[in-house]
Formats: sequence, C-alpha cells, structure tokens
Amino acid sequence: MMMKVYVEGIRSLLYYVGMCEDKAKICEDAKEKLTYQGIIDVLIPIAKGYVTDRAFEVCSHGVQVYGGYGYIRDYPMEQLLRDCRITMIYEGTNGIQAMDLLGRKLGLNKGKPMMDLLGEIQKSIAMAKDAQGLEGLAAKLEEIVNKLGEVALHMGMTAMSPKVMNAFAFAHPFMEVCGDVVMAWMLLWRAAIASKKLGNGAKKKDVAFYQGQIKSAEFFIYSILPITFGKMKAILATNGAAIEIAEDSFGG
Ligand SMILES: Cc1cc2nc3c(=O)[nH]c(=O)nc-3n(C[C@H](O)[C@H](O)[C@H](O)COP(=O)(O)OP(=O)(O)OC[C@H]3O[C@@H](n4cnc5c(N)ncnc54)[C@H](O)[C@@H]3O)c2cc1C
Repeated sequence: MMMKVYVEGIRSLLYYVGMCEDKAKICEDAKEKLTYQGIIDVLIPIAKGYVTDRAFEVCSHGVQVYGGYGYIRDYPMEQLLRDCRITMIYEGTNGIQAMDLLGRKLGLNKGKPMMDLLGEIQKSIAMAKDAQGLEGLAAKLEEIVNKLGEVALHMGMTAMSPKVMNAFAFAHPFMEVCGDVVMAWMLLWRAAIASKKLGNGAKKKDVAFYQGQIKSAEFFIYSILPITFGKMKAILATNGAAIEIAEDSFGG
C-alpha cells in the first residue's frame, strides 16, 4: 500500500505541475498566468525534493518485498534503488530544495502562491465532500490543511525572527509535511473522481481499479496523516538542539 499510494500521488502531482506549466504558458489573462506560475514555484521543491525522497523509499520497499533477491545485482530492483538515489542529489540536493521552500517560496509575493495552493486544495475538498462516502476523508484533509496554514505562518515568522536558524533546522520536516498534505490532496482528488465513476455505473473491468483509488486515499489519510500531525507538532515546537549543539560534542 505504501508503494501504491506514493506512486499514484507522485504521478498525479507531476502531471498537475505539468498542467500548471501549460496553463502558465497559454493563459491570456495575466493575473491567472501569475497564479499558475506561483503555484508551480511553490510546488517545485515538493515535486523535486519530497517526491525523490519518497521515490527512494518506494524502491527500498521494493527491495524488501523481494528479500535477498531484491538486494543482489542479478535482479533489476537493486539498480532501480541505486538509480533513484541520485535524484535526491542532482539538480539541487533535497536539503537545498527544502531551504528554497522555506526561504524563498513560502514568502514569495507576500505568501500569495502558498495561499493559492491551499485554495486549490480546498476546491478538491469541496468536490470530495459531494462524493459518495468520502465526506470523512474530506474532513480529515480539511483539518490538516488548516493546520498546515498555522505551521506555514509559524515557520514564516520564525524565519524572520532572531530564531532564523531554528526555523531552517526544520526546513526539511516542513517540506515533508507540505508534501504529505499535497499527496493526500492528490489521492483524495483521484478518489472523488473514482467515486463519481462508480456512482455512474463504471464498466465491470474498471470497478476494482476505482475502488482501489478510494482505498489509497483512505490508507494515506488514516495511516500516514496522523504521523504528519506529529511532525507538525515538532515543527511548531521548533526545538533548537540541532543548532545549539557544540561542534566538539560530536563524536566520541
Ligand atoms: C550523476 C550526477 C550527474 C550530474 N549531472 C549534472 C549536470 O548535468 N549538470 C550540472 O550542472 N550538475 C550536475 N551534477 C552536479 C549536481 O548538480 C551536484 O552534485 C548537486 O548540486 C550537489 O552538489 P554537490 O555534489 O557539490 O554537493 P554539496 O553542495 O557539497 O552538498 C553536500 C551536502 O551538503 C548540503 N548543503 C550544501 N550547501 C548547504 C547549505 N548552504 N546549507 C545546508 N546544507 C547544505 C547538501 O544538501 C548536501 O546534503 C551531477 C551530479 C551527479 C552525481
């Protein structure tokens, strides 16, 4: 299920960024163009950093599923894991992507792109609330989107205060929670479409696929998002151990 939900959520996110790129290019309305460009700007560190972190995890699960066969070079799983590892390093390491999200993208244009992104997520929540059987999942996503707003505000304020280093020590967890919320958004969006298809009498061969989309959203929202809430709690506490520790305290 871990592999299924991330592959589906990641694919949808990358298609969504592609769609925003197209819209930013072809839109005739200057305001709309700017909105799409802003959403792309905020999503880039997630589409590059969060996605490649999770992609590596997916490959690692793949190795585990095959056991010893997954690890040895005789089978392609080991090569997939190794090939995937570099994506976290090249074209900007993921640590730098996380700092880009916090340091540049969060406050871009007085925070409008981030607010626009949260607005887009709210549109899918409204769509899911109307879909048969998805009201509970939609309410859970709404709850965490509101919490993300609080976390983003806290991080923005802390990054502009004398505790700037504390904020940056939590740049990577911040990218992770943003990514988790975006994954839940993509999966709920897919589930809302699947629920509509099932309600309209989907073809027999497609029924299991659509039911699977709803299970993906359910799995992610009930099994992963509670962990995301925990990470948000840690970010809001912004403990300073990582930056207060003296260099001499390492080793030994
Ligand atoms: C297979 C491969 C192909 C590549 N192809 C290309 C290519 O086609 N074109 C191209 O231009 N480059 C290419 N690169 C280079 C790639 O862009 C760099 O490897 C990448 O940007 C990371 O830089 P670095 O390796 O110098 O690591 P470093 O910058 O030394 O980073 C090491 C670690 O320190 C962290 N770090 C760095 N600076 C900071 C900071 N200020 N604060 C906190 N943490 C920091 C990083 O996140 C990372 O974890 C390629 C690299 C590889 C391995």
